[in-house]
Amino acid sequence: MSRKHTISRRGFIGTGAAAAAGFTLAPRIGGRALAAGEDASGRSRGSIAVASANGLAAVEEAAGRMHAGEDALAAAIAGVNTVEADPDDITVGLGGLPNEDGVVELDSAVMHGPTHRAGAVASLREIVHPSRVADLVRRTTDHVLLVGDGALEFAKMYGFEPQSLLTDKSRRIWLYWKQKMSEHDDWIPPPPEEIEPDVRRLVDRLTGTIHVSARSGEGDLSCVTTTSGLFFKIPGRVGDSPIIGAGLYCDNGVGSAGSTGRGEANLQNLCSYQAVEFMRAGLGPADAGLEVLKRVTAHTKRADLLDDRGRPDFGLKFYLVDKRGRYAGASMWGPAEFAVCDDDGPRTEECVYLFERE
Ligand code: ASP
Repeated sequence: MSRKHTISRRGFIGTGAAAAAGFTLAPRIGGRALAAGEDASGRSRGSIAVASANGLAAVEEAAGRMHAGEDALAAAIAGVNTVEADPDDITVGLGGLPNEDGVVELDSAVMHGPTHRAGAVASLREIVHPSRVADLVRRTTDHVLLVGDGALEFAKMYGFEPQSLLTDKSRRIWLYWKQKMSEHDDWIPPPPEEIEPDVRRLVDRLTGTIHVSARSGEGDLSCVTTTSGLFFKIPGRVGDSPIIGAGLYCDNGVGSAGSTGRGEANLQNLCSYQAVEFMRAGLGPADAGLEVLKRVTAHTKRADLLDDRGRPDFGLKFYLVDKRGRYAGASMWGPAEFAVCDDDGPRTEECVYLFERE
């Protein structure tokens, strides 16, 4: 059964981390309490792609290609390529927001369920499609991860043309971020009336990424994540997106999962691997995502990462599909949406979530 975006899905933490944090609410979907073991996932019989909410065009492309018989990973990569090449998406590829020096550094990884092989690149500069380079690492080397200059040289060997990834829009957002950063440097912030609304709105977002998890009609699973990473990061900072098990993971016999949001939380908890392991243990995708979020909550101890009620004060989302075609998005904070495309076409649906923004 597939669920349309009109269906509200909610999950509130109930046990374990919840108790530790002082929360005792039972898991919920819509206004109804979830029965023990009940999962809030949608279900699709044919090919299906799930993604972060910025991936509506990506899931449509991926599902269409799988429907035409293409391998799930090739289809998922073609899907995210549409977003990597979009200069208006400031979270990935061309137009992705740069590091603190104004240089765009991209992270990406792919994982192919049928062969259980992965490839990744980190801190890759000047290449619009890091996911394609990650896939070449997977297919043509004995390695999993290439970084920095080595990754760039590797891409050039395969004919990728280096180009500036900074667009006029991303340059203006970065410049404004520098100007308003500190009262203790020589930059002077512009008067409020001179700041473009878009620049003001986007500069305070910290993160953004695209992940696609795909399941073919034959039940094969694959996934890809691609990102410009944390906005205005320290040069050389690598997030979760190119780290197998952290930002994405799939097991062809079980399921696929990937993430967007605070990468450091995924790096410290190997969240995508854990989500697949929860599915192996019998949880459906929605419950698997919620269990991982509870674990992150329990492991988040730093006071500056917690709100005044002890809840993780950052965004973290998972996109999951299992071998049977059940799928879900799961978010630390709701309401939140994810993108999905199956035989019913592309749409956004609501994530289950632990905490609700007031
Ligand atoms: N997870 C990404 C990172 O930490 C950022 C994001 O998804 O927004 O690099």
